[in-house]
Amino acid sequence: MKRFYPDFNAINAFTLSLDYHQNELECAHCSKHDQFVSHGIIYKQRSGTLAEKMGKRIFCSNRFGRTGCGRTFQLHVANETPHFRYGAAHLFLFISALLANMNITEAYHQATGQTETRNAWRWLSKLMTQLSEYRSVLKYRKGHLIIPFRSKSKYLKHLLPTFSQLFSANRNGCFDYQLNQQRAFF
Ligand SMILES: [Zn+2]
Repeated sequence: MKRFYPDFNAINAFTLSLDYHQNELECAHCSKHDQFVSHGIIYKQRSGTLAEKMGKRIFCSNRFGRTGCGRTFQLHVANETPHFRYGAAHLFLFISALLANMNITEAYHQATGQTETRNAWRWLSKLMTQLSEYRSVLKYRKGHLIIPFRSKSKYLKHLLPTFSQLFSANRNGCFDYQLNQQRAFF
């Protein structure tokens, strides 16, 4: 099942015609494809007062005569990073700044506007846990070459050679990754 979409309208159009899209749906739990119903919008509160529409839920319905399993699934816009306060664009800004040799605290400040930058190391540690996923994407690219990166940080030494390859042919960074891989970047 496709979990990431280019924008909210694409998700909305999809969920308003779930019966029509049956062959693109399969419940990961009960394997049914014809019991889904649209189940509400996912909002995210960013700075300021406006809540943005970041996705929708669909429900493998077990109500009103339907015979699904009752599980709910989330469909996300690709600039959203699920379970994470910041979006794909913030993450990509952070990584791009590091690739441009900016130091870790500056890169975090640039990406988030925050002056408290301890979280930057949490981001790096989280990215490390995903490193094998990023590398598995590169495995299928022709002629990719990992160039070592000099840095005092063990995180950057590991991450940046992979990121430099991963983003070499893609301008929208984490957004494209989520859309192409159908997998959360973070
Ligand atoms: Zn189900």
